[in-house]
Amino acid sequence: MADSENHIRVRFAPSPTGHLHVGGARTALYNYLYARKTGGKFILRIEDTDAKRSTVESYKGIIESMEWLGLNWDEGPLRGGDFGPYTQSGRSVLYHNEAQKLIDGEKAYYCFCTPERLETMRFEMEEKKLPPKYDGRCEGLSEVEVAERLSKGVPHVVRFKMPHEGSVFFRDIVRGEFSFENGKLDDFVLIKSDGRPTYNFAVVVDDAHMKISHIIRGDDHLSNTPRQVHLYRTLGYNMPKFAHLPMILGSDHSRLSKRHGATSIAYYRNRHYLADGLLNYLALLGWSFDGKKELFTRKALIEKFSLKKISKNPAIFDNSKMEWINSEHLKEVSLAGKISLVQDVLDEEDLLPPEFDVDITKPVDLKIVPDREEIKETKSHNYKMSDKEIERLATIIIVLGNRLKLLKDVPAIIGYFYTDDYKVDEEAVRMHLLRSEIPSRMNKLADEYQKLRYFDRKSVEKVLRDLAFDLEIAAGELIHPCRVALTGKIVSPDIFWVVVLLGKDKSVERLRKAAKLYSVT
Ligand code: GLU
Repeated sequence: MADSENHIRVRFAPSPTGHLHVGGARTALYNYLYARKTGGKFILRIEDTDAKRSTVESYKGIIESMEWLGLNWDEGPLRGGDFGPYTQSGRSVLYHNEAQKLIDGEKAYYCFCTPERLETMRFEMEEKKLPPKYDGRCEGLSEVEVAERLSKGVPHVVRFKMPHEGSVFFRDIVRGEFSFENGKLDDFVLIKSDGRPTYNFAVVVDDAHMKISHIIRGDDHLSNTPRQVHLYRTLGYNMPKFAHLPMILGSDHSRLSKRHGATSIAYYRNRHYLADGLLNYLALLGWSFDGKKELFTRKALIEKFSLKKISKNPAIFDNSKMEWINSEHLKEVSLAGKISLVQDVLDEEDLLPPEFDVDITKPVDLKIVPDREEIKETKSHNYKMSDKEIERLATIIIVLGNRLKLLKDVPAIIGYFYTDDYKVDEEAVRMHLLRSEIPSRMNKLADEYQKLRYFDRKSVEKVLRDLAFDLEIAAGELIHPCRVALTGKIVSPDIFWVVVLLGKDKSVERLRKAAKLYSVT
């Protein structure tokens, strides 16, 4: 499709009143995918008409989260574009001009009713079990009356003149046909008494002026759509297509909220989830390719995404599935990429540089340790470690293999390679160290390791097995206590690699320390 023929323009229009949450990010993602798939444009617009609730902090947070997710917008804050400004507070002249057109065409009117009167009216309607609705009193004011009140500066709003008869229809790509009786709709406010536009008015004016072709948003806005359709028609704007996305529910099937735990994108970012893994999971909240395939790269999502396959049914946010998808994405990251990611986590936890020096450069099994140059060349990663430490971390990562599922677990699963201040599992100590025969065995193992000249995996294993043979015990009788002594845990990667990667000095030290600490008399 030639560029000039492509009129697909979609937008994500967050209000900067809090964090970017899972639901908002899913909306942004679907817009982004649709734009990228069709070669259209993805616009970011900040809807800050609610002056009391909008904050600069939230605005910055939304931008940061969008950038971290890689949901790059074509037009909007920081990027500009032909239809700016892209923040509603900078567009008030436009809203006032459009409101004036409606007033001039007798499609809207000034309303001077006081908040007290509106409150009493609402109360009376509720008493009569009628839907609360403005009674239209100010619609009947004469031009002179209006001019007089305006000149006196009487506080006022501008209301849309809703037809009393007939119905409004629209078609939603996801949900199908909708029809609403006009009689049930209100003469809703377009411009508030502080001069700011309401959401329903600003959103229509902006979507039309930004030439938005498809409105893809959460179905919490479905009930606003009839009013918006009225505005499109009355203002003579082109009608966009609508696609309302299904709700996202928590595990208890109620609408996803803070009660279900953290749902902000910043939370996942701070815990080192992979942006592409998170996007993959968010894509599945309301969309599926064939009902089977669940793992998608960003590129594949762009290729496969389609509005037609969005489900009407609410989606359930399942944390363990999100984590599984993230771990599958981590598997696909190159070694160099993993080194960089793990390094960032270690760094953040103050585990770099390591508390102790380990020299593994010579004797490690070269088959498993990647070439230093290869690691460096794979990508221009920002390594903050010495070459020696990069090599050790590369080996740790290889040895860990698929045990490393989520980066947030890095301190817990490999912290002992970097600090002596690691968590010790008391149950593991009770099971494997607190026995009278253990201290002398740990000391003997330490003696053997001390003597070892080439501290490579093969030799380290042989020493332990030979000692077990001499002591006439199964190798496991040494392996389990050794693991707890060196790592504080009941599970670890291959114990002989752990010994090598901790280095001779540290391994010997920890074995002796365990012997001393847990000697039961
Ligand atoms: N600012 C609105 C919100 O954050 C956008 C709604 C829309 O996309 O029309 O919910």
